[in-house]
Amino acid sequence: MNNSSTSGTFAEAVIDLAAVAHNTRLLAGRARGRLMAVVKADGFGHGMVPVARTTLANGADWLGVTSCAEALRLRAEGIDAPVLTWMHLPDEDFAPAITAGVDLTVASREHLEGIAASARRAGRTAWIHLKVDTGLARNGADPDDWPDLVAAARREETRGRVRVRGVWSHLATAEEPDDPTVGRQIRLFEWAVGRARAAGLRPRLRHLANSAAALGIPRAHFDLVRAGIALYGGEHVPDRTWGLRPALTLSARAIMVRRVPPGTGVSYGHTYRTDRETTLVLVPVGFADGVPRAASNRGEVLVGGERRPIVGRVAMDQFVVDAGDLPVGIGTEVVLLGPGDRGEPTVAEWSRWADTNPHEILTGIGARVGRRYLDARPASHEERRYAVV
Ligand SMILES: *Cc1c(COP(=O)(O)O)cnc(C)c1O
Repeated sequence: MNNSSTSGTFAEAVIDLAAVAHNTRLLAGRARGRLMAVVKADGFGHGMVPVARTTLANGADWLGVTSCAEALRLRAEGIDAPVLTWMHLPDEDFAPAITAGVDLTVASREHLEGIAASARRAGRTAWIHLKVDTGLARNGADPDDWPDLVAAARREETRGRVRVRGVWSHLATAEEPDDPTVGRQIRLFEWAVGRARAAGLRPRLRHLANSAAALGIPRAHFDLVRAGIALYGGEHVPDRTWGLRPALTLSARAIMVRRVPPGTGVSYGHTYRTDRETTLVLVPVGFADGVPRAASNRGEVLVGGERRPIVGRVAMDQFVVDAGDLPVGIGTEVVLLGPGDRGEPTVAEWSRWADTNPHEILTGIGARVGRRYLDARPASHEERRYAVV
């Protein structure tokens, strides 16, 4: 693999956009309605803009982000596809997002009033998606407050301040399709849509499903699914695979190699001690780059074509690998994470070592790690017409 030592970074994430394209097509093929590509958090660490372009060219109709700042960055890059954002403070100035045609989420009267005020100042109508809480107890309106919220949204519609394009929620247990709470959440969602209609609203996009539900709970699809991790190739069920392709390979080069005697204590606190003469390889990435400290003495990497253990504590900028008697030298490639084709660890393995989910591993890859892109076929996004309902 090419290395990035000339650019001053020690590690490199290679992002295979053909894999993102494959995953997008797979998800678009399974979705009963439309597909939203969730590109928040810099495209889960893969780069928001290249991922957005790739997904739009391969079957995604919408983009999803958390903040107006992210949405406006997409617009500044010339991406004019429909975008929904979902975390705001009510007193933000929404005028730039409204003017840029960004759809905004509303889950409280405060947010509705803030957005309506910005729309009035901008002389525009804000397109909004009302969010109800169906059991996650996060960023949605309490069902008790929902009738009041939909009535208020209808009043703002008649004043021309807002138009309600969507009603949505987010499942608490999407990874367990058979959990009885899934059915309860879906029924509560349908109740909320019914109340919105009874208030005179005409939401054309009902959406509830994330990746896990897009793949495993077809009855939760409604008009749009919001897929994040699956676009990047993260399989969410350990014993079941959907044919997704991991898109990111993280590698670095050994910066130091030393032959040490038995009994050598390694890294802070000497939590590892060599039991024979061996070769220690120093890898110049650490927890500041997203290598979880929890993987100390648990994780493995691919060195010289073989799996070798991470030994001692992972530090902020570096960790040590016990390479045994492998013929390795300064500059040898170390593959931390990838699709697994060459025997390198996968994001699923890292998730287990760090007792977390693939989302945290991928979004944790830090800014010091260089990004390089393997292109999908030339994107046809420029010619694409986006269907906005
Ligand atoms: C992040 C996010 C998603 C995507 O979830 P995945 O599990 O990564 O598919 C969908 N909807 C909302 C509201 C999110 O915040």
